[in-house]
Amino acid sequence: MDCIFCKIADGSIPSKKVYEDDKMLAFYDIEPAAPVHVVMIPKTHIASADELNEENSAIVAHIYSKVPEIASKLGLKGGYRVVNNCGADGGQTVFHIHFHLLGGKTLGKMC
Ligand code: AMP
Ligand code: ZN
Repeated sequence: MDCIFCKIADGSIPSKKVYEDDKMLAFYDIEPAAPVHVVMIPKTHIASADELNEENSAIVAHIYSKVPEIASKLGLKGGYRVVNNCGADGGQTVFHIHFHLLGGKTLGKMC
């Protein structure tokens, strides 16, 4: 499968890692939309939030469980935003589920 985030997860495409464990990886976004912009991904391929179900969704809780640790490491003391874009209308461009962690300034309203 030709998936850029699977390749980042397996190390065949380099990334600037912020956090890694056996199930997930967090790395700096190549085109930051905020002063701090990290992408958090599962190491297993799930195309989007629209593919989640009872069998594969535990990884979402795992990723969220690491958000405070990652945000703290990044110095996001005043708060931050976690965003998941789903599908073409949701603005998703990489079809391997991921969660943007954005911060480093007071963020504006969504949309
Ligand atoms: P989305 O538009 O929600 O699908 O988000 C995909 C994100 O992945 C975008 O913010 C891209 O800038 C980012 N991205 C794409 N390729 C890379 C890469 N090789 N390294 C880091 N971030 C990437
Ligand atoms: Zn993938």
